[in-house]
Amino acid sequence: MTKDFDVIIAGGGLVGLITAAAVAVYSNQRARILVVDRNSEQDAGKKTINGWTCGDAVSKRSIDYVAKHLGIHYGSPELEHPVKGVLVFSPDHKTSVLFDGEGYLLNRKILPQRQIRDAKKLGVSFQFNVSLDRLLVEDGAVIGVVGRYLTDKSVFKLGAKMIIDATGSASKLRTSLSINSKIQREIDRDDVEATGRYIYKFSQEGNDRSYFDPDYCLIHLDQYLAPGGYSWTFPKGKNKANIGLGVQKSALARRNQRYGLNDNLQSLIDAYVTQNRTIQRCVLSDDADDEGNSKGSWQVPVRRQNDCMVTNGYAVIGDAAWMPRPIDAGGMGPGLYASVILGKTVAGALETNDMSEKSLWPYNVEYMKTYGYQMASFQVLRAYLQTITNSEINYGMKHFLTQDDIADITERKHPKFQRTRFFNPMMWFRIMKASKLASGLRDTAKKSETLIQHNLDYPETPRGFPEWQKGLMKKMENATSA
Ligand SMILES: Cc1cc2nc3c(=O)[nH]c(=O)nc-3n(C[C@H](O)[C@H](O)[C@H](O)COP(=O)(O)OP(=O)(O)OC[C@H]3O[C@@H](n4cnc5c(N)ncnc54)[C@H](O)[C@@H]3O)c2cc1C
Repeated sequence: MTKDFDVIIAGGGLVGLITAAAVAVYSNQRARILVVDRNSEQDAGKKTINGWTCGDAVSKRSIDYVAKHLGIHYGSPELEHPVKGVLVFSPDHKTSVLFDGEGYLLNRKILPQRQIRDAKKLGVSFQFNVSLDRLLVEDGAVIGVVGRYLTDKSVFKLGAKMIIDATGSASKLRTSLSINSKIQREIDRDDVEATGRYIYKFSQEGNDRSYFDPDYCLIHLDQYLAPGGYSWTFPKGKNKANIGLGVQKSALARRNQRYGLNDNLQSLIDAYVTQNRTIQRCVLSDDADDEGNSKGSWQVPVRRQNDCMVTNGYAVIGDAAWMPRPIDAGGMGPGLYASVILGKTVAGALETNDMSEKSLWPYNVEYMKTYGYQMASFQVLRAYLQTITNSEINYGMKHFLTQDDIADITERKHPKFQRTRFFNPMMWFRIMKASKLASGLRDTAKKSETLIQHNLDYPETPRGFPEWQKGLMKKMENATSA
């Protein structure tokens, strides 16, 4: 088949667009790159018909990483509002934990327009209004994509040396991959959060900063209001916020059954908004930059990234590769890091004209060693936290979390929960009082150390993968049973 392009990027969302720029930068603009998306150019980056649904929060560190490696410096209006950190509140609102670290609330509708301008300047081509249906394969390699023009339903078919799948969490390309490969196709239902949010303008009543703070992203933990997930109020200005909630569907079903209720994601989001004491008289944002984007819901994968993200002529990235952090569903940071790493790997593979699994393997290795090594341990911690009650969360946050644990989580490391160990006699009484919780936290910390080490030992070549994955599965099974 004719290689119409060197690289076709399927999906021009946040991650696909930055990956296009990364391949262009690392190949010194020699690579012929095409981004294909089902949206129109005007609606670029839109996830579903409901809009660019996201909590919009990203760390300054991730934005700086892109600036450092690709020379792309975002500013106003795509960086809509700066924040100083994240405050997490216990269900009783009595304990809050501050995760320091600057960040931004993005405007996800504006950002893709900026990304397209940047990519075009780097020589990237675009094909909008095309919905991709499947990958074309030949002799054990991916060689192109097939889809339909949404304008006249005619067939779209192009070949390339390499296809990058950045089509988001509902990727059809990954699930229908028809060659023998190490890439996992499906995700467990319990590893997906159903999430939704509003972008609201409001009047402030009083000054209770545990409900709204213009300088901090607020996260509220509450297993009754957000079973198996959490709710958030992120500032987008003095009187504007991104307010939303995510749940694990099976946890919501159990909670409904237990209390004889019939709540769904939408009713829970509305209940969360109603119980906010500070934010009053909410109206959907009527800012031009939020048009068509002030109310929406979608899904986020919250497991470790795909154990292998490459095969011959194909790589998967972003939500399509299950990259969002299991602990907080943040997918933009990992997606931005992965884009830079994949861009560098693909440019290197194009130089040698070898797009085999082996040649693309460094993307797996470098992503794992830079960002991904913590994710299996966070998956275990997330699964554990989904099982504990509100009173256990209140108690644990008050008595067991130390500044070191907070620093670890801020650094995206697994907390050690030192206070749950019997080193300090001052803690014995508290540990005894909540012994199940203490031993659960101790246990996840111990198991995650093994998982982190295992991931840091990710095989340098595909040959070591089967053995490594067998070990990972065993450790995951051991960590989630008991
Ligand atoms: C409610 C909610 C809140 C969130 N909050 C945060 C947060 O605060 N911080 C954070 O870091 N992350 C957050 N996330 C996750 C974050 O939004 C994602 O990780 C991020 O958008 C992933 O980018 P992506 O480019 O991989 O996928 P997407 O943004 O989903 O983009 C996929 C692109 O592929 C295109 N596409 C899909 N299928 C096809 C097809 N068949 N053919 C052609 N084109 C196709 C789509 O049109 C779209 O442009 C949140 C997610 C949700 C749902």
